[in-house]
Amino acid sequence: MKIIGVETIQIEEFSNLVWVRIHTDEGVVGLGETFRNPEPVVAYIHETCAPFLLGKDPMDRTALSHALRHDVGNHFTGFATRSIEIRGNSAIDIALWDLWGKALGHSIATLMGGRMRDKIRLYNTCANSGYNNRVRAGYNTQIYSRSDPAPKNISRNEDLLMQVYEPARLARELLDEGITAMKIWPFDVYALRNHGHSIRTSELKEGLSVFEEIRNEVGDEMDILIEYHGLWQLAPAIEIARAAEEYGIYWHEDPIALDAFDDLATFKQSTNTRLAGSENLGTLPWYRECFGRGAVDVANFDMAWTGGLTEGQRVAHLALAHDRTIAPHDCTGPVTLLANLQLLAHMPNALMAETVRSHLDGFYGTVMTELPKVSNGYVEPLTGPGLGASLNEEALDRPDIIKRVTGKSAI
Ligand SMILES: [Mg+2]
Repeated sequence: MKIIGVETIQIEEFSNLVWVRIHTDEGVVGLGETFRNPEPVVAYIHETCAPFLLGKDPMDRTALSHALRHDVGNHFTGFATRSIEIRGNSAIDIALWDLWGKALGHSIATLMGGRMRDKIRLYNTCANSGYNNRVRAGYNTQIYSRSDPAPKNISRNEDLLMQVYEPARLARELLDEGITAMKIWPFDVYALRNHGHSIRTSELKEGLSVFEEIRNEVGDEMDILIEYHGLWQLAPAIEIARAAEEYGIYWHEDPIALDAFDDLATFKQSTNTRLAGSENLGTLPWYRECFGRGAVDVANFDMAWTGGLTEGQRVAHLALAHDRTIAPHDCTGPVTLLANLQLLAHMPNALMAETVRSHLDGFYGTVMTELPKVSNGYVEPLTGPGLGASLNEEALDRPDIIKRVTGKSAI
């Protein structure tokens, strides 16, 4: 089998996403995805990656992914964070895995060695509908303040608004749907006021009132995960975490700058619950440093940002070696979720799947041929070949689609 074409697909309405399809001479097509700053990613994929990939055997996906990561001569290698190169490589890598599964007629989880489970517990990230999915900076990601007047008539799936203004209603809605874990970021608003240098007592109490309202509504039936987006210095991060833990917290995520390994370990030792990191820096070398220091308990890497399923599988095995769990990140696009679920179906140390109900109820379904079933707080990884789904015909026929192919399309 030979690669005959590398295609990027963008849809104006969801313009932060880039899908990649790899076409072969046997008609098998693999689908990948990455997210954010799409134009330079698309340019990188066509100018730099596609000429290398054309004519190669896609079944040699490890060799191809390794070259994309390390071959300086071909100008592939990016910095091991969220560089354009690593994101483009991630999308290609996921497409190669999907293609591999589709060519062999089995799901990725089956080909990895089979399933440990048919469903996995999910947590809901409390984001708004369409959160961040357009290029416009801050699209539907505004950080709201409890001290500002609450908007009227917040509708279902505007979970970012609800986590600030109506956290009890949000927790109740989720619990009524069977969802028993929710992720919120009630302290971001205070960090943005002074660059995370400190938090005032009044701010701390205002932030904590969110937990109080949730506990008053649903008792201990809801696990609460706090996202800090790496906004805090160490001292206030510890102060917040310790205060919040009085309400029972399931995890703290990215509390401080993620490149400060020793500070992460100090944070971890100063608190009583598990520490999750990181969708931003979570590559294999990053976890080597974190696990070695006992700094991270839950690996929530983003495969569309840190190297694809190849990197994700390696991180998952490294976590296994350190007796730690994985819960890969997805608040971005449907293909990332499908890739996460294949890994989670297979790995013994799968903890939870990150899902966003406003995405699953919303735009994910409008672009994919199939979505995983969600019920009673669990999500079922797809069982079809590769990732189990593709972009659907309606999406591919949209007037606001932009397709670019280097080489030839197989379909
Ligand atoms: Mg996060």
